[in-house]
Amino acid sequence: MSIISSHNMLKKAQTEHYAVPAFNIHNLETMQVVVETVAELQSPVILAGTPGTYSYAGTENIIAIADELSKKYNIPLAVHLDHHEQFDDIAYKISTGVRSVMIDGSHFPFEENIAIVKHVVNYAHRYDVSVEAELGRLGGVEDDLVVDAKDALYTNPNQAVEFIEKTGIDSLAIAIGTAHGLYKSEPKLDFERLSEIRSMVDIPLVLHGASGVPEKDVRECIRRGICKVNVATELKIAFSDALKQYLIEHPDANDPRHYMKPAKAAMKDIVKKIIATCGCAGKL
Ligand code: 13P
Repeated sequence: MSIISSHNMLKKAQTEHYAVPAFNIHNLETMQVVVETVAELQSPVILAGTPGTYSYAGTENIIAIADELSKKYNIPLAVHLDHHEQFDDIAYKISTGVRSVMIDGSHFPFEENIAIVKHVVNYAHRYDVSVEAELGRLGGVEDDLVVDAKDALYTNPNQAVEFIEKTGIDSLAIAIGTAHGLYKSEPKLDFERLSEIRSMVDIPLVLHGASGVPEKDVRECIRRGICKVNVATELKIAFSDALKQYLIEHPDANDPRHYMKPAKAAMKDIVKKIIATCGCAGKL
């Protein structure tokens, strides 16, 4: 088994009406949790990392760990570049073995976003690497990416059609009211907009900012055509809360093999919950 593109994975999800979770990972432990859990549940998965994650852990290290885990559990893994913005950085990471990328030009004007994305698509498709791009703009905080609520923009369905035609992307991240990070109040999602976009385009649609969105709303998004669900913050909170609790209860603890255990178990519960919401267990 090995590291694959997310193209066929997402197309299958689109045809069979479920979603593939994209879990943001950061290190050995978080990758172990995700892969162990998806192997148990026979779920497809995308391991996502922001530029900050790849520079923290090392791109080659992430690829090497994913490769080993894929062989150990005999399942294919899509290792994905989440919210990448620089062509050279993306090209370098493709050379290390990454086969699934997101080029985020959503902060640029429409025509500029098209040009930036098309440049990456032309390059990536030569190597059978799938490309996701975003149209509209999510609010919230994702690593170094901070977007004030007033700058968030919902995806325009007509522009989505033109954007896909002109760029040749494999999947489209849409903005319908979710945000990165935690919500101050329950988000109100624009389901009608999602349905309209779904009826006008035929590539897989992606929901960013799923942490903190009520489970019934994520399910409704999938029913209306979302094929990839991105989760980062909920995993980090579960992991770090359990770790803090353990260290409070065991102030003398100093062995990562012990204090990582409850953190990994807490994160695993979230991974299982998201897989259940996505309806992707048994879909490998
Ligand atoms: P959350 O941190 O809100 O789960 O968002 C994750 C995400 O969209 C990654 O691209």
